[in-house]
Amino acid sequence: MLTAVDDRPIDLHVHTTASDGDLSPRECVARAAALGLAAIGIADHDTVAGNAEAMAAGEEMGVEVVPGLEVAAKHGHWSLHVLGYYPELGDAGLGRLLRRARARRDERNPQILARLAALGLPVPFEEVAAEARHGVVGRPHIAAVMVRRGHVATAEEAFARYLAKGRPAYVERRKPEAAEVLEVLLAARAVPVLAHPGTLGIESSDALEALLGPLVELGLRGIEVHYHAHNAVQTALFGRAAERHGLAVTGGSDFHGAAKPDIELGRGLGGMHVPYRLLERLKAERARL
Ligand code: AMP
Ligand code: ZN
Ligand code: FE
Ligand code: FE
Repeated sequence: MLTAVDDRPIDLHVHTTASDGDLSPRECVARAAALGLAAIGIADHDTVAGNAEAMAAGEEMGVEVVPGLEVAAKHGHWSLHVLGYYPELGDAGLGRLLRRARARRDERNPQILARLAALGLPVPFEEVAAEARHGVVGRPHIAAVMVRRGHVATAEEAFARYLAKGRPAYVERRKPEAAEVLEVLLAARAVPVLAHPGTLGIESSDALEALLGPLVELGLRGIEVHYHAHNAVQTALFGRAAERHGLAVTGGSDFHGAAKPDIELGRGLGGMHVPYRLLERLKAERARL
């Protein structure tokens, strides 16, 4: 039944085995169906490879699947994640951007493994590649192998001690400028959304403006207000910014399956609720592109 305000739960930030999630696209859709979600959005890092399978499964299981992706970008001293919803999946410019992003991961991964080896923590690349199956390789795959080899007890520990920014095995990945990312996404008719702004350490409205103003000028159309790690103060701060700039409000858990066992599809750490009506606005943004 459709009420005037459609409050059915959705989740617009889902990782599958196409990147560093550990459920296949089909399994993500099945889980969404089991949890009663009306829609999920695919947000794999640097690839759109999981979207076709997810959309087919969605039709079959009665879950609306919003195609999408997540890419990293730099903007001044900021390192950002940008979500792109409803891309033309075969767009050539987007394909080039994503291939380049994956190539930069291929540069970085051996450097991370070399640092781990120098620390006395051997992690063979073959095991990391096996962990990633055919998906885009990321640090969570390296963390998983470190756990399996007994180097650390948990993936969290792998990040906290070695893999996170500022830790001894961290290697920066070269990233494109936000201006380029937004241009490519818009050209592929993807709605560009700033992912998890709460991870940027922004606490004041002024600091947020300094980042958001220029990004909106460059074509940003939305902001991920609802996110598993956002507290009520952050959610309110980002919600007000969305209103000021006329941005679409989105939200999602950043579900990765058992790789991040505390984060559940649709509810994050427990309290997150993203209503379907937000998707209606996102679709309106897409229709304007
Ligand atoms: P990468 O794409 O290789 O840079 O790795 C980024 C992935 O690692 C994202 O999915 C993050 O959610 C995850 N990640 C980043 N920092 C941490 C952390 N401190 N603990 C657990 N996972 C993390
Ligand atoms: Zn991820
Ligand atoms: Fe992200
Ligand atoms: Fe993500």
